[in-house]
Amino acid sequence: MAKGTASFGKMGKKHTHVKCARCGKPAFNQRQKICASCGFGKTRRLNK
Ligand SMILES: [Zn+2]
Repeated sequence: MAKGTASFGKMGKKHTHVKCARCGKPAFNQRQKICASCGFGKTRRLNK
């Protein structure tokens, strides 16, 4: 593994998705406050 920028990849980027309180998947968007997986924050129904 090369040292420096090449080995860091996307480490510098902020993680937009955190663990969802409903489905438990790391798909909850912090900025939009909507889960990409189940729709938590957008709809009460589970997004299949
Ligand atoms: Zn969810």
